[in-house]
Amino acid sequence: MSDKEIKHCSFCGIAQSPTVPLIAGSDGTICGDCVLLASQVVSNWSRKKELSEMQGPLPIPAKIKAHLDQYIIGQDLAKEILSVAVYNHYKRLKHEGGNSGLGEFDKDVEIGKANILLIGPSGTGKTLLASTLAKIVGVPFVIADATTLTQAGYVGDDVENILVRLLDVAEGNMANAEWGIVYLDEIDKIARSPEQQTGTRDVSGEGVQQALLRLVEGSHVKVSGKGQRNKDSEMTIDTRNILFIAGGSFPGLEKYVEKRLLPTNSAIGFHAEVNDTSDKPALEALLNATQPSDLRKFGLIPEFIGRFPVLAPLEPLDIDSLIRILTEPKNALVRQYQQLFAYDGVELKFEPDALVEIAKKAIERETGARGLRSILEQILRRTMFDIPSCDDIEQCIVDAEVVRGEGEIRLLKKAEIKLRQQAGT
Ligand code: ADP
Repeated sequence: MSDKEIKHCSFCGIAQSPTVPLIAGSDGTICGDCVLLASQVVSNWSRKKELSEMQGPLPIPAKIKAHLDQYIIGQDLAKEILSVAVYNHYKRLKHEGGNSGLGEFDKDVEIGKANILLIGPSGTGKTLLASTLAKIVGVPFVIADATTLTQAGYVGDDVENILVRLLDVAEGNMANAEWGIVYLDEIDKIARSPEQQTGTRDVSGEGVQQALLRLVEGSHVKVSGKGQRNKDSEMTIDTRNILFIAGGSFPGLEKYVEKRLLPTNSAIGFHAEVNDTSDKPALEALLNATQPSDLRKFGLIPEFIGRFPVLAPLEPLDIDSLIRILTEPKNALVRQYQQLFAYDGVELKFEPDALVEIAKKAIERETGARGLRSILEQILRRTMFDIPSCDDIEQCIVDAEVVRGEGEIRLLKKAEIKLRQQAGT
């Protein structure tokens, strides 16, 4: 074949070959790589258009918080901080999309991204907050467990995989993935342990922080299409506008805060008085007073801390909050089980003292609200097994004794309920 007959891509000039097929148009040809590149460029245009034409104003912080209130009990401070952070994040994106109506002077001000660090005991709603936020704003959302991540080259999940998953959730739409939310769970577990503070390389902790840094600080990250879609291709994801929310329980962090806050003369020394423990500030107040230097002492590297300028504390859940979690949210656990029983035509009732006992049990387990489902499951398992076999049960009543394991769930039959109603009991 003469050189003249070999076709070339009209965009990059690559020659046609068995491995580089070309698509012919009326006046030229294009190769696969250029098609992909063009698609990325075009989706970027449409995102800018979408953002600048975003219907009406963005939901204001008070609205975002009101929405969060429907699903998450308590944690008002964290909700307020998150609502403002998310509002600012998307406001910044919207105006970056052009046609913002801002003056020239304002356009020169480039507003940086403010990632969020949630600090609070396990099972207090950190993941729930992040996932509910993503739903409210309607952006792709993924959760990554920091403990499964490793630096590139080591056994485990590469941090780049997080972006591949985000792209998958966005159904391959790069533009949407680039303004999604990533929740990094168990971030405290990748802190340098104190023994390693002076040691040499720390592959699992500091190494992962370094690797994450590249993602979090906003850069173009190359990922290979390991996900379900976009196989066999290498893509570049711009992480500048991806909002990273990290969460961790940071056990013992409060000690560093307390030490910093306490006047030096009362902390140590030969004549130091023994502190009265009842004067100790509450855990939430201490976590709320957390400063970057405390996180550094905990074992996070300064560059990493610097990328999470918004700190939001979550409080431990007390009995009242746990009872509210059981009964109030739209998809509260008690409601879920009541619905399950209702499908069999049975009314499930929890006496108020039973709810208190369940909450106490959850506190004993120290897993926050996370333990509630398994406690309910244990209590109701036997009844859920029996009920489908009997068709005359109308009501099941759970009281405190049942929860303590000292009694049985009361099953009332239709006839019994009628008799009770007649007797006025
Ligand atoms: P964390 O991420 O803080 O360890 P999660 O958000 O995963 O905890 O909470 C586990 C489960 O407990 C949630 O799925 C939710 O059902 C319940 N939960 C925890 N905290 C709250 C809360 N403040 N309000 C309502 N439900 C909660």
